[in-house]
Amino acid sequence: MNIDTICAVATPPGAGGIGVVRLSGPASADIARKMCGVLPPPRHAKLVSFRDKSRQVIDQGLLLYFAAPASFTGEDVIEMQAHGGTQVMNMLMRRALELGARTARPGEFSERAFLNDKLDLTQAEAIADLVESGSEAAARAAQRSLSGEFSKQIAALQQKLTALRVYVEAAIDFPDEEIDFLADGAVQARLQENIAALQALLAATRQGQILRDGIWLAIIGRPNAGKSSLLNALSGQDRAIVTEIPGTTRDVLRESIELDGIPVHLVDTAGIRQTEDPIEAEGVRRAREALAAADLVLLVVDQVADMAVQLALLQELPDPERVIVVFNKQDLELADWDEEALLASVKVKSVSISAKTGMGMQKLRSVVRAQVGATEQPEGLFSARQRHVDALRRAAAHLQQGSQRLELDSAAEILAEELRLAQKALSEITGDVLPDDLLGAIFASFCIGK
Ligand code: GDP
Repeated sequence: MNIDTICAVATPPGAGGIGVVRLSGPASADIARKMCGVLPPPRHAKLVSFRDKSRQVIDQGLLLYFAAPASFTGEDVIEMQAHGGTQVMNMLMRRALELGARTARPGEFSERAFLNDKLDLTQAEAIADLVESGSEAAARAAQRSLSGEFSKQIAALQQKLTALRVYVEAAIDFPDEEIDFLADGAVQARLQENIAALQALLAATRQGQILRDGIWLAIIGRPNAGKSSLLNALSGQDRAIVTEIPGTTRDVLRESIELDGIPVHLVDTAGIRQTEDPIEAEGVRRAREALAAADLVLLVVDQVADMAVQLALLQELPDPERVIVVFNKQDLELADWDEEALLASVKVKSVSISAKTGMGMQKLRSVVRAQVGATEQPEGLFSARQRHVDALRRAAAHLQQGSQRLELDSAAEILAEELRLAQKALSEITGDVLPDDLLGAIFASFCIGK
């Protein structure tokens, strides 16, 4: 097989103490020897002069050689550590290209590591997540996935499903015993055990995904209800003003904060009011769209204005499941409210707080976390992506379907098929089975040099 030798600058662009050019592929060692005049033994750093075509010294630095298969990619890998400057990196790259390497595509080093069985897909994704992690908790979770924590749990589930499949398929192959097999309830019991295990893993995966991607939160309410004060109280010390997150509409994103290690992206809903002005109407439309997309909406209500009027905003919200009413300014004790009666009529969760004194804030944080499915502290979590959550959901649906068919029609063949499909969905997570072009799509989102 003819494999290209790829090269890329592995360090971030710009000036720095050290810059690294990395090569991977069969010609790596040869290219290094031509550029440096020597090749050190594998895994020994050697001080060398990197030279260009006319034998002029580009820079001095360290040369490292990792011989296949004991390298990150599983191929021969060369690392050239020079001074970190754009020109030095460019000249080193140019020389490597002249000597037969080609520029690596984004994520191509990780892709090769995956194809050479150095990593499974969740681990390769964890590298990207680790590098890009936005909080310490997210970095630790990515590290856990990288070490194989997530893959291990998928493998354990796969084993259980395999055992069940063997049992079910044996029963199909020996039809005389099928009647007993279906009647005794053992299969259904084992199936339920597997469903429970899958649900538990799904919950943990969803939390890992929240840690990576964060949640979208909208804070709405009448002017002066205390929305800004609540925001400040929620974010505490961790408040970070973010002007831009790739792939999001800047209009609707105001900023991101961190809530107990979870990134929380705040949706700007300033435009949410009735208006005749066509320009403002556009703002209202966008605000509504943003509201519909938010994972959670906090409706801030205060004691100073008419509560029924304030709660009327609830009618504007698409889904009461995603709303928490926050009764603010509890330190004031101004009005005589019958909170419970009012809320009984709207059937949403509520928390009483004072954004000013901090009363009730801890409760609110935990209600927010519970509502989005992030009940555990981030310690002990592994990082995960939407793709993983989706695959687990599909696997769960297949098991549920199989269980129903077994219950209703004693359909062992259909159960066997649903078990197979559930396993296939799980295999997509670790990359053992992949739909076409998913692989390309995953690695294309990586940075160059990874
Ligand atoms: P927004 O317009 O909804 O963002 O409201 P602000 O957060 O700007 O608050 C409006 C006013 O209410 C400010 O003067 C705040 O100091 C005050 N306020 C906010 N929360 C509380 C609270 O819990 N207790 C008291 N006493 N005042 C509050």
